[in-house]
Amino acid sequence: MNFNQEMANYFRARFPFLHITTWEEERVISELRTLAQSEEMIKTPRTFFTWSVTEGFKRNEESGPDAMKTPVKALDFIEKYKEPAIFVLKDFHVFLGGENRTADPSIIRKIRDLSVVLEKSPAPKNVVFLSPSEHIPFDLQKDLTVVEYGLPTFEDIKEVLRKMIDVNRSNSRITITLTSEDEERLAKAAMGLTLQEAENAFALALVTRGGLDLNSLESVLHEKQQIIKKTGVLEYIKSEPRISDVGGLENIKRWLKKRNRSWLDSAAEYGLPSPKGLLLTGVPGCGKSLIAKSISSMWHLPLLKLDMGKIFSGIVGSSEGNLRKAIATAEAISPCILWIDEIEKGLSGIDSSGDSGTSSRVFGTLLTWMQEKSKPVFVIATANNIQSLPPELLRKGRFDEIFFVDLPTKKERMDIFNIHLSKRLTSPKARGDFQIDEETLSLLADRTETFIGAEIEQICIAALFEAFSEERSLTVNDLKKVIANTVPLSKTQSEQIRKIREWANLRAVAATPQEDRAGYDKLPKINGADSAEPDQDISSTRGGRSLDF
Ligand code: ATP
Repeated sequence: MNFNQEMANYFRARFPFLHITTWEEERVISELRTLAQSEEMIKTPRTFFTWSVTEGFKRNEESGPDAMKTPVKALDFIEKYKEPAIFVLKDFHVFLGGENRTADPSIIRKIRDLSVVLEKSPAPKNVVFLSPSEHIPFDLQKDLTVVEYGLPTFEDIKEVLRKMIDVNRSNSRITITLTSEDEERLAKAAMGLTLQEAENAFALALVTRGGLDLNSLESVLHEKQQIIKKTGVLEYIKSEPRISDVGGLENIKRWLKKRNRSWLDSAAEYGLPSPKGLLLTGVPGCGKSLIAKSISSMWHLPLLKLDMGKIFSGIVGSSEGNLRKAIATAEAISPCILWIDEIEKGLSGIDSSGDSGTSSRVFGTLLTWMQEKSKPVFVIATANNIQSLPPELLRKGRFDEIFFVDLPTKKERMDIFNIHLSKRLTSPKARGDFQIDEETLSLLADRTETFIGAEIEQICIAALFEAFSEERSLTVNDLKKVIANTVPLSKTQSEQIRKIREWANLRAVAATPQEDRAGYDKLPKINGADSAEPDQDISSTRGGRSLDF
């Protein structure tokens, strides 16, 4: 039921006191003012009053006498008024306690007494309390009916944007280059803001960039950070990495590219559901977090990181309450991406009774939401220790796909070297006559068999430090030297890698497509040359089913 219909029902049923929690006073007042005159909706039209501590009562925008500015006098006025009326009271929460204030007992008493008077009054009279706070004093909990006032719909926000475009269209100093799809993206990015906040965000984008285009999304997303910060358990991640900053992992990239416009209306009209999410698992340091971050810039959606540690920390509230708050925030600002990093961390205690079932309850809440969510919140969960993940999480329907990110293949290592060298060799001093060509990349990739992406990045940085300390430009020799001195993680953890590959072969799809998996890569022997473990041919033991997208 929509807000207007719900309020009309309460007015007609003569509910004496209604409580609406909102920051959007003006929007609510404007809707209620129209409702008060609608014979069709409420049968008996009513005089519409608003009240605040500074203005007292206002009837149809005209200020009332000064004496009405105290809350007790205001309640007296309501009691004695003889005609059908709706009284919207703005500042009463200030006298009702909550948010470290002390309640005024005489006002609470007066409200309770008034309740009986309103119910018996021959003329229908209703009182609506508007407050930014949810607090209702214990004594009044049976007298007040709480009504939800939702955030503006997509249509509301789009109308604000349209108006702003129309007003500025003829201004020669402002350039507006929005296609109708861009407009949709911009309006969707503002979901979760109040109308005023959305208007402010569009206006800010307009003045800072001298116009509106797809890049104005940044200003709108910036406005949203405020909401996210207040939850305490969600973090807004500025989406710096682009998908082109990720080397290899073409299978995931293709999957994501195909779903780029999946949350636009055109996809829904085509008959497509919005994607639920992905679980990325695999060898640490091979780009899982990087992929999670780059989806945001690819899809032009805000990225929220959910810190499982904070959910359970007890610093900001109860664990289940924290998760519910995080989910509600993500839904309010959807479409968005919710990144749950190291999801296994929060779920590892599920089987143990050590935390009196808190982990199980939190996990249950998460699973149910993932299964049933109707709002376009794309969940990207990353996990290193997959063995500890509960099987329920992996069941079909929770995630659209589970991808396994393995040690990079030769082709992927070449890509990763290319990305990190190109990113850093921007000054002529550092670059000198270093050539980032096929031959060099191939040589470096051959020497870094079984290295992870993070190690390749570190090799590039360490080699540059070598060159910098000797005040010269980078050479291939610098890189070769650092490589020779690096012991890759895969060497010390080959047993774990072998295990997670076995796991992934059954349950996950390889992030690397078949064509990039060719070539002979070996998993190093455990504990060096003394081990009885033979070298393993990665091309036959690489983890993840080869399903190409
Ligand atoms: P962890 O689980 O330990 O957090 P991860 O798989 O999430 O590991 P990232 O944090 O994405 O790994 O990788 C660490 C860093 O290594 C990245 O910031 C990036 O600079 C580099 N890196 C890793 N993999 C790649 C890749 N495929 N392409 C480019 N850079 C990479």
